[in-house]
Amino acid sequence: MTASKFTRFGAEGRNFWPPSFDLSSDGPYHARAMGNPLRERRSAADLAAGAQVIEIAEKIGDFEQLSAIVETDLVALDADRIPTGWRESAVEGSLEFGFADAQQSLPKVSCRVGVTVDAVCQRCIEPFRLPLEVEAELLLLGHDQDVDGFDELEVWELEETLLRPRDIVEELLIMALPFSAMHVNSTSCKALSPETNESAEKMTTPFAALRDQMAQDN
Ligand SMILES: [Zn+2]
Repeated sequence: MTASKFTRFGAEGRNFWPPSFDLSSDGPYHARAMGNPLRERRSAADLAAGAQVIEIAEKIGDFEQLSAIVETDLVALDADRIPTGWRESAVEGSLEFGFADAQQSLPKVSCRVGVTVDAVCQRCIEPFRLPLEVEAELLLLGHDQDVDGFDELEVWELEETLLRPRDIVEELLIMALPFSAMHVNSTSCKALSPETNESAEKMTTPFAALRDQMAQDN
């Protein structure tokens, strides 16, 4: 039933989502605006035939598996140090479906996904914000489909005929998560910064004393 709601759009050619693109007021788009194409199950061929462009405007909390992984990382912190809004981080980007071949038998999707996740630095065990940007060109093949000559595309074999575009987004983000998250900028890392290092702190003392001395002399 749900799938049939979309077939008419495929016949009309290229569609855009969400209606931030200039969609005229009357048209069938209103009916479609009720659902979120990220969550609808459709076949890859159907999405490709419609040249479906899906804008992603979700939150980390919308993705169950991704949330579970991020949370596992954050529970290493004392409860009062866990960033309260980590589930609210925006997941943004787009998925653009099309065909890789002229015969229109090989669905592909161009993905661009960005998010900033709260993570725990494995070096200093402090929370920090880790930006992730994923760009991927995926060839969506059926279970026993096999092709040659599309080396620039990453092949994803679909276990089921119908896919939910959001599952692609979640999978890409989970794969982009580092095994061991660490401060990108080493000066932010307390394990590497002399400020919190005890021996370094002692070393700064003579200079502080000298500075005080100079201040008194003037
Ligand atoms: Zn660190």
